[in-house]
Amino acid sequence: MAKKYEKPVILKVQTGMMNKFGSSPYYTRKVRTEIDGVAINELVEKFGSPLFVFSETALRQKYRAYYNSFSTRYPNVAFGWSYKTNYLPAVCSILHQEGAIAEVVSEMEYDKARSIGIPGDKIIFNGPYKNLSALEKAVKEGAMINIDHFDEIYDLEKVADKLKKKIKVGMRVNMDTGIYPQWSRFGLNLDSGQAMDAVKRMVSKGKLVLNGLHCHIGTFILEPNAYAVEIEKMIKFGYEVEEKFKMKIEYYDIGGGFPSKSKLKGTYQEPDVMIPSVDEYAESISTSLFRNLRGGDLPKLYLETGRAIVDEAGYLITSIIASKRLPDGRKSYIADAGVNLLYTSFWYKYNIEIDRQVDGTNEPAIINGPLCMNIDVIEEGRLLPPMEKGTRLILSPVGAYNVTQWMQFIEFRPNVVLIGTNKEVDIIREAEDLSDITRREKLPERLKLNLNSP
Ligand SMILES: *Cc1c(COP(=O)(O)O)cnc(C)c1O
Repeated sequence: MAKKYEKPVILKVQTGMMNKFGSSPYYTRKVRTEIDGVAINELVEKFGSPLFVFSETALRQKYRAYYNSFSTRYPNVAFGWSYKTNYLPAVCSILHQEGAIAEVVSEMEYDKARSIGIPGDKIIFNGPYKNLSALEKAVKEGAMINIDHFDEIYDLEKVADKLKKKIKVGMRVNMDTGIYPQWSRFGLNLDSGQAMDAVKRMVSKGKLVLNGLHCHIGTFILEPNAYAVEIEKMIKFGYEVEEKFKMKIEYYDIGGGFPSKSKLKGTYQEPDVMIPSVDEYAESISTSLFRNLRGGDLPKLYLETGRAIVDEAGYLITSIIASKRLPDGRKSYIADAGVNLLYTSFWYKYNIEIDRQVDGTNEPAIINGPLCMNIDVIEEGRLLPPMEKGTRLILSPVGAYNVTQWMQFIEFRPNVVLIGTNKEVDIIREAEDLSDITRREKLPERLKLNLNSP
């Protein structure tokens, strides 16, 4: 194909504010025509745009890579799937088929896991808000409950009285692992003695028996050694509790937080360079376990890895619906997906691929979503080639935290499809229509419009 002649232009390159990492002239010219062998064209023609696409193959492969990396080093390990990261039933079911149990942080998520068919004793129940009736249900169904604060201890003691039995519980602790800002709002603080005070309270009332320790030090943790510190402190505390109170800590749940291959805003290096591999985390964690556990002890290790497993299995296809020139010289593209669907765009720069070869010079461009709101910016300061209306962009990774935190605002939420291992494509969440919005709305009789009256 002959190349089209393009008139040369001179443009001031603006890629955002200078910062200590320098500016990052992110340059996009990558073409992607398919996902897992299914053409982008075909997907959009059948299911519309925008469209979330999940890859079953990528999801299973990622889970297996994580599971194998840990189980070959520390065999008594299990993963709890972090529902809040992505609780589409198809995604959860794939991970449950692979062997993950469920990790939930609210009664809504608890009920969702039960509705998918997960029994209570395969649910880890975390989170700062579990009301009395939710706690009672979880106790009756045998869930692993990790206590978040003293008020939850009091509530669980009420449940123990009501059910006339001692309840086994885990406790979430927080601590300094060298990761700042420190996540200290969840659980009881280990360094200050608060966690030990909580154990003393449980022992003095004799209604709750501590059998597990839980901690989640944060998310997108780029330092494998932070987990080694976390484990060392948890195990030391566990042995102290065992010796003082004749209890047995049966599990250590070290939470989630491993990064996916996302590009955090304000970072300079590519994710492939910046992000430690799963083996580096597994090595750091298992080494710390063996260094700190006493010979013969092999408690259960739980991981609640969310983002690192699902993020890269998710794509968003969005179409360019218009473009214009901004007064500062930049090109602005309007896409049919915005921050309403991409909550994580506040923190991450996506990998952007284009569904076709585009001729012409790359120039500074911004991508706006469809919302009538100034903050609806998916990308700014990237160098993009001139794209026509109808061009499709494939954004990734978007599998974590978007299809749970997306908002229904001005636009409907679109179809979500899953590409199976044999290239079969299924809708796993149907596009919304007006009935989804109006279904719960009520209009008092006196406000009903009567267009016949003056
Ligand atoms: C959110 C959360 C996770 C998952 O975190 P990722 O960073 O996605 O791995 C795990 N455990 C708890 C308690 C959480 O709140």
